[in-house]
Amino acid sequence: MLLRSHTLQPELLLYKMNLYNPTHHAQGMLFPHEAIRDSQKELMELVAKSLQTHSHVVAHAPTGLGKTAAVLAPAIKTAMDEDLTVFFLTSRHTQHNIVLETARAIKEKHNVKFPCTSLIGKKHMCGQEGAPSIEFHDYCKHLRDHGECHFYENYMKGDVRIELLKQQLDGKPANEIVNEAANAGLCPYEISMSATQHARVIVADYYYLFSDTIRDAFLSKSKKELDKSIIIVDEAHNLPQRLRSVYSAQLSTKMLMYAMKEAKKFELSRPVATLSYVQDALMAVTSQEEKQVDRATFERELAMPLGEAATMLSAAAEVVREEQQRSSISGVARFLDAWQERDEGFTRISKQEEAGALLRLVCLDPGLMAKDVFDQCYASILMSGTLNPPDMFKDILGLKAKTASYPSPFPEENRKVLLVPLTTTKYSKRSQDMYASIADHCASIIHGIPGPTAVFFPSYAIRNSVLGYFSKLSARPVLIEQSGMSTNEKQGMIDQLAGSKDGVLFGVSAGSFGEGVDMPGVLKGVIIAGLPLTRPDLETEALINLYQQKFSKGWEYGYTLPAMSKVTQNAGRCIRSESDKGVIVLLEERFGWPTYKKSLPKDWKVEITTDYEPAIKEFFA
Ligand code: SF4
Repeated sequence: MLLRSHTLQPELLLYKMNLYNPTHHAQGMLFPHEAIRDSQKELMELVAKSLQTHSHVVAHAPTGLGKTAAVLAPAIKTAMDEDLTVFFLTSRHTQHNIVLETARAIKEKHNVKFPCTSLIGKKHMCGQEGAPSIEFHDYCKHLRDHGECHFYENYMKGDVRIELLKQQLDGKPANEIVNEAANAGLCPYEISMSATQHARVIVADYYYLFSDTIRDAFLSKSKKELDKSIIIVDEAHNLPQRLRSVYSAQLSTKMLMYAMKEAKKFELSRPVATLSYVQDALMAVTSQEEKQVDRATFERELAMPLGEAATMLSAAAEVVREEQQRSSISGVARFLDAWQERDEGFTRISKQEEAGALLRLVCLDPGLMAKDVFDQCYASILMSGTLNPPDMFKDILGLKAKTASYPSPFPEENRKVLLVPLTTTKYSKRSQDMYASIADHCASIIHGIPGPTAVFFPSYAIRNSVLGYFSKLSARPVLIEQSGMSTNEKQGMIDQLAGSKDGVLFGVSAGSFGEGVDMPGVLKGVIIAGLPLTRPDLETEALINLYQQKFSKGWEYGYTLPAMSKVTQNAGRCIRSESDKGVIVLLEERFGWPTYKKSLPKDWKVEITTDYEPAIKEFFA
């Protein structure tokens, strides 16, 4: 069995386990542990080289490789030598602890000192109880502007405890900062922001650097500069989609209804007229059929210049915020601003939905949005356990980067991957018979798995159709993922699954359990029942066209590889440490087609079989 990378062992023992080699000691790179794996050392050297040449790295580094230490060690060393800042950007709050622990281990092992700060979204760092998650910035601004936030007032008065608290909270995760600062009556967010000014390592969410509306203010407040920043993007497979969602905007009948109500309540007659022009323009560009909308067409349909409408509604939103904490008008104003500002790399799509008309400004090209950051930073390292293939991520993020791909460090014999080509969720073959057949195979597969199992489907609709049949075939308790579950609800479901010994989770490939939520050591099996392709709608078509134009890889980058990336994510839920043992079943005939099969990770050693029961039995025997 391999050692966990953070386990300290006598050198002799490490030598016997083929992990210790004096030449593997990365001299001067601040590596925090005694033992280092070959692939960990390779990654560390690649990062060190990219730092020397101010370049970028995109690395597929599977779970268990120890990538956080491998990347932080050379990055912190360079940052200390060259007076730079390391930004460790992650979309997961739980990852902050791992980064801060690694930084602490570096300090202890090498007897070095450097301040570290953890910063999550402002709404998650607010000291006010019951702060809203929607329109939070309006809420916070209103309280600050009206002197109604005592946390902020105390902070601005220059409370004597601020400096002491900043020192005490150095290297602490954001959730601890929130508790301790709030207990001291100080705004936790302002304390953390202020601590960034002296921090050598800042652990934060992507959008602090990748959202252009936040970046400049953040850099100026933290007194940092991009050209003096080493940027590490963790779970970087999420970055393209995060950028797309940050830069996309939408306008709906519902938004306009709330905005109109607000404008009438505040007797803002000209904004009322403006909102009704916007409503008319929205209706004019929308039909039952989804369709692409020209930028100029919407502007022509608006009975006043779009810039004027945006300015007037922004001003109206300010008036509203004088009186109340949030404004619905501001959402409409923001959409109009985005509509006129964004063009290259975007598409515009309208559709009449059940809830009303919807007009979307969709960001297609995350590379354009990330360009300023990557062009200006000192160097960057993008890493994830599912950056597969790394070249695709390099291309779509517009990077001139070195790419690297490492195999899983976990024992191969602990994982069995079966491809069972007996069913499909292909649109033309969907039927009740097919759903019954998928349920039948799921029940037989799960029967052979001695522990909790997750089944991931391409959509909730398919999941529900299969569930009806499955419940009649299997006595195993089924836990059903719902869209929009809270963090506590998700954790409750994981606890239930972990405690059940034979529970079955029915989820969707692109859902929280399929991609985001970690379930270490819980699952003995994962079934991916169907190919999780996105709907072939206008957005997908536009994406395919964009990547065809840019890289001659429209279908791959816009359609098939994103689906296969989800498959890799789903499969990764099963084996999270070297002691986990599990079976992954790809239940879909198309996984055997060359287009999809070639994108499965090479080290999976996929076995194609229709006789899966003996194979599973033998694996767990
Ligand atoms: S100033 Fe700080 S504590 Fe006050 S509302 Fe804003 S984030 Fe919350």
